[in-house]
Amino acid sequence: MSTDLHALPVRSVSGVTPAKAKELEALGIDSVARLLEYYPFRYEDYRIRDLTGVKDGEKITIQGKIYSEPSVQMYGRTKSRMTCKVYADPLFISTVWFNRHFMKDKLKAGQEIVLTGKWDGRRLQLTVAESEFPGGSSSQSGTLQPVYSITGGITQKWMRKTVHQALTQFGALVAEAIPAEIADKYDFMARKQAVYRIHHPDDVEEGKKARRRLVYEELFFFQLKLQAFRAIQRKRADGVAHVFDNEDVRQFVRSLPFKLTDSQKKVIAEILHDLKEPYCMNRLLQGDVGAGKTVVAAAALFATVKAGCQGALMVPTEILAEQHKRSLERLFEPYGIQVGLLTGSLTDRQRRDTINSLHMGLIDVVVGTHALIQDDVLFRKLGLVVTDEQHRFGVNQRSVLRRKGMNPDVLTMTATPIPRTLAITAFGDLDVSTLRELPKGRKPIKTYSVEHDKLERVVGFIRREVASGRQAYVICPLIEESDKLDVQNAIDVHAQMSHAFPEFRVGLLHGRMHPQEKDEVMRAFKDNEVQVLVSTTVIEVGVDVPNATMMVIYDAVRFGLSQLHQLRGRVGRGEHQSYCILIADPKNETAKERLKVMTETNDGFEIARRDLELRGPGDFFGTKQSGLPEFKLADMMSDFEVMEMARDDTAELVAKPGFWTSAETLPLREFLHREQILDGEQLD
Ligand code: ADP
Ligand code: MG
Repeated sequence: MSTDLHALPVRSVSGVTPAKAKELEALGIDSVARLLEYYPFRYEDYRIRDLTGVKDGEKITIQGKIYSEPSVQMYGRTKSRMTCKVYADPLFISTVWFNRHFMKDKLKAGQEIVLTGKWDGRRLQLTVAESEFPGGSSSQSGTLQPVYSITGGITQKWMRKTVHQALTQFGALVAEAIPAEIADKYDFMARKQAVYRIHHPDDVEEGKKARRRLVYEELFFFQLKLQAFRAIQRKRADGVAHVFDNEDVRQFVRSLPFKLTDSQKKVIAEILHDLKEPYCMNRLLQGDVGAGKTVVAAAALFATVKAGCQGALMVPTEILAEQHKRSLERLFEPYGIQVGLLTGSLTDRQRRDTINSLHMGLIDVVVGTHALIQDDVLFRKLGLVVTDEQHRFGVNQRSVLRRKGMNPDVLTMTATPIPRTLAITAFGDLDVSTLRELPKGRKPIKTYSVEHDKLERVVGFIRREVASGRQAYVICPLIEESDKLDVQNAIDVHAQMSHAFPEFRVGLLHGRMHPQEKDEVMRAFKDNEVQVLVSTTVIEVGVDVPNATMMVIYDAVRFGLSQLHQLRGRVGRGEHQSYCILIADPKNETAKERLKVMTETNDGFEIARRDLELRGPGDFFGTKQSGLPEFKLADMMSDFEVMEMARDDTAELVAKPGFWTSAETLPLREFLHREQILDGEQLD
């Protein structure tokens, strides 16, 4: 849209009084451009039809001739019912008008009239909602009329008139926005035409075509930001170019207690390649629970240390930090690589020591929570940050590091597989690596869903498993938004389970315990000193105890599918057959459907896809992590294909050297400046 129309106040449209301008402003319409871009969300069909084939209850518009004088019945002073015979070729029909007796005198026999209303085929009767005499100047009959989302004192009719007026006055000034070659490629109509046609299409098809053109444009600018950001990152080349010998990494991989899957090998190769390049890596690693992301991170950290840099692994919980620290220590020990831990629960003294060691370069790899990126934490030379199982490492965190003079490569790992449809939107600025297979020999987890009255049998099941040497998790009922009640539940269930299993040790884990206590419980569970672990969802992510084969989840319908899948992923990590029991009394079809999905498949990508279907994109990530953009016109699910087109086109565009210099693309670069992509590193 040309800047002119953005600068033009909406009062410039005739008929928009200062009072109306205020009301428009409440809808976010403060300029002529905004008014023209206030697209309808559907159309009302006023095209005149004949009555053949019209279904009962359908809303239609017909044209006919008034055949008889109307007759009116009054109910009180304002309510009325008026009937009138109309000849609508080839039928005589009766029309019913409620509370319109004031029109009585206008309805003269022989008069042509256009009527819109609901058709009752059995009675040959139309209940009139709107009427119009043909040939009037503001006639809407015979057309598709736009329906806008409106509030307050603005009526649909006024809005239609005003947008139409704006199109008449300023429509000719609507400027092109996307490059001509792209518009040509897809045979898009001119922007001017699209803006007109989306408000006033001749038919539904044309409305769709106009919409598609404008959706593309919206997604084009969205993707242009992401792709330009990526291109700039690469061009800037101010990241760390890690120098190491691939052979050293290969040797490390050979020393692992298992053979890597092909997926793991491929992904490690992608990461090593990025590490060597001078640009800043910004890569997302996605893989199902248990796919083996940790060793991929380990290989990347190993290469980083070989290149003389330090690495950091950032995780969401202290339990995970401890666990990762221990496993990295085990893997790195033969190579003399020093692993440190930095969490919120260190004593001041421990914390100071760790920070000093980091600064002096005595620690090569540090594992920690968010405590890692606090202000007083300085590295000697930070080369790689890996974040595990949490929302992405945001631009803000990046700039915290940058301010400290560090510009490390970043690898983000997630076990919530993201359906392609969302990934392209939510992670369009990242390179994505995917672990597509699980390590060989895993037995699929058997999942059952039972109602609460079967608890006895579940207890018997747990007893059998634990008696044969295995261990069990019991996840407690989730009370929405009440950490306190969750804890109480866990305490209750713990008492119940302790009572049921006098012969086993039953542990308890919840978010209000001291970090040291939590660690101690996790360690005891890992060493099989505790056989049954009752827990709130604090164990949800990342915990790895291969001897645990039972996952019992109370109130399973309260959890999202991805979360259930995460929880279930705590078992099935070793050689033994594992089980997941979902205890729930589903109250509705969606709940049943969700449980069914869980019992039917172990495939995280499939579950994510179904989850997205059931919950929609807004809820998919949960509110906090969503970070999904809001589009004016585009729908990220149904317009996915257009999003892909826009991504490919913009990627191609910014890859051409000419894009950064030519006069033709100047408006696009100006847009990037306005969005602060070109000058800074702001994104989000
Ligand atoms: P996640 O991807 O969920 O983080 P982990 O990295 O915790 O998975 O790995 C799950 C388990 O699988 C760990 O016990 C790990 O040692 C093991 N593992 C990883 N890769 C392989 C492999 N290629 N073959 C066999 N076991 C593996
Ligand atoms: Mg993990």
